[in-house]
Amino acid sequence: MKLDNIRNFSIIAHIDHGKSTLADRFIQECGGLADREMADQVLDGMDLERERGITIKAQSVRLLYTADDGETYTLNLIDTPGHVDFSYEVSRSLVACEGALLVVDASQGVEAQSVANTYQAVEYDLEVIPVLNKIDLPSAEPERVKGEIEEVIGIEAEDAVEASAKEGIGIREILERLVRDVPPPEGDPEGPAKALVVDSWYDKYQGAVALVRVMNGSIRKGQRIQMMATGRTFTVGTVGVMTPKPVELDSLEAGGVGFVIAGIKDVDGAKVGDTITDAERPAPEPLPGFQEVKPQVFAGLYPTESDQYEELRDALAKLRLNDSSLQYEPETSHALGFGFRCGFLGKLHMEIIQERLEREYDLDLITTAPTVVYLVHTHTGETVRVENPAELPEVGEIESIEEPFMLANILVPQSQVGEVIRLAEEKRGRQKNLHYTNAGQVMVTYELPMNEVVTDFFERLKSMTSGYASIDYELSGYQASDLVRLDILVNEDRVDALSLIVHRDQAYYRGRELAKKLKDMIPRQMFDIAIQASLGSRVIARETVKALRKNVTAKCYGGDVTRKRKLMEKQKEGKKRMKQVGSVTIPQEAFLAALSVD
Ligand code: GDP
Ligand code: MG
Repeated sequence: MKLDNIRNFSIIAHIDHGKSTLADRFIQECGGLADREMADQVLDGMDLERERGITIKAQSVRLLYTADDGETYTLNLIDTPGHVDFSYEVSRSLVACEGALLVVDASQGVEAQSVANTYQAVEYDLEVIPVLNKIDLPSAEPERVKGEIEEVIGIEAEDAVEASAKEGIGIREILERLVRDVPPPEGDPEGPAKALVVDSWYDKYQGAVALVRVMNGSIRKGQRIQMMATGRTFTVGTVGVMTPKPVELDSLEAGGVGFVIAGIKDVDGAKVGDTITDAERPAPEPLPGFQEVKPQVFAGLYPTESDQYEELRDALAKLRLNDSSLQYEPETSHALGFGFRCGFLGKLHMEIIQERLEREYDLDLITTAPTVVYLVHTHTGETVRVENPAELPEVGEIESIEEPFMLANILVPQSQVGEVIRLAEEKRGRQKNLHYTNAGQVMVTYELPMNEVVTDFFERLKSMTSGYASIDYELSGYQASDLVRLDILVNEDRVDALSLIVHRDQAYYRGRELAKKLKDMIPRQMFDIAIQASLGSRVIARETVKALRKNVTAKCYGGDVTRKRKLMEKQKEGKKRMKQVGSVTIPQEAFLAALSVD
């Protein structure tokens, strides 16, 4: 295939704006699958992904398109994940392309993440083609949304394609535009092999599968290859393309996209962003910008039944095979027993892993409130990374504490700017910029402590703006803050899994609120339960869960059989998420109560 007849592109779209539906239309138009094979949304492989509507792992499809000029073109669609937690993967997908479709729901308008991703595409010199999707909806306002794209993103949108992925409108027009406007890839077919790992995933039978964009040279069956970031070498077993069915080829040539299988045991052997080269004739240097993706959010995961510890370990090991950004190590909690401290890219990543452990591996877990990584400087001149609040050194040893900050861009309708600013200020944010657009939206830029963002910031932002605000963020670095550890004591015993690191100004308020919440969550027992919040040895709040009077239980277990059964079922249900801490039973909600204190 001549380079002239290749087009590599991504789709930038906010969740639900129609990326998967559109991709399916392309596959249909290009005849990649027989009609009976067209399951709904073939591009999203995992069930969980379908339910949540999130594309977790980038995938690609090769489309063979016969254009109006009579020529057949190879269109490589490189799918991008749609959430900020995976922004590094988005940037790798974009680097592998010469063009991008910016798909915007014509009944909604532009969202912050699409703005950020489009900026990135423009930065990488991609040709961006705006597409207004869902024009079949009566509420579609293509002219207003075009104005918004021009105003907020700053790219020409007058000749944006008006499309409906659902009704099949504008599909060929988009494909024609890709052929006409996106430049063909450049590359030296004779040079030493250089291929970018855009994505990698674990296959039970094949080991790691790497999705690559070949920049120079070729990747062939039987070739000895080297991963440039790790220096590890492998022999290529299979190369091929997704159509979306996998189809084997003899080689992948410069300018092309496809998968490489090389007996790599785990995804660590083929990291996203790494460069593959020929082991015998290596490229002098790797492609720029490889980044080790580091977890930013940590939480403790504990089985509710201690005999599930081994199962949890095996399940984490399996998930990790496919996800090199997931970290875990054994951790022991005085309150919760044996479990794991896990590191995630963000809160969404954490929720996905949790859900998969429970759903696919049938585990019942207690999860502690997520925390960020603090840098603690001690008087002895050491710097300690603290991923668990319970492990914060004693006050007397601490010189200072630094916490991570993020730079967040929030796009919100003008009428709701006031509320968003109030929330950001409450979350210790510092305003950096405020940009009013003519299209009625405002871009609010804040520097926010990540610790506040991983609690309930997104949820509150979404609910207070009825879902109209959208957010994009990036890590902006560490800064010193006046932080203290807030402990919770239940009947005088510190429950380590409930400790939190909070700003001193909020400590009293948070302590009081948390104690109050726990009082409502911890079931009454035959004795009084004292709940205290403390800073060091100083108790700042106290609540009591009163003992049950004997006759209450007696009444519950009275004659009514159905009621009794219901009660027992309810208890059984409830038990799943309970943990015995000393003589007190604490429900799962209690461990996450700190997330919803506002
Ligand atoms: P993604 O999250 O960007 O991949 O979005 P999906 O392709 O999953 O689409 C989200 C929802 O919008 C689904 O319910 C689709 O059926 C619907 N949808 C997609 N395209 C259109 C369209 O052109 N018109 C209408 N009315 N609905 C659409
Ligand atoms: Mg999708």
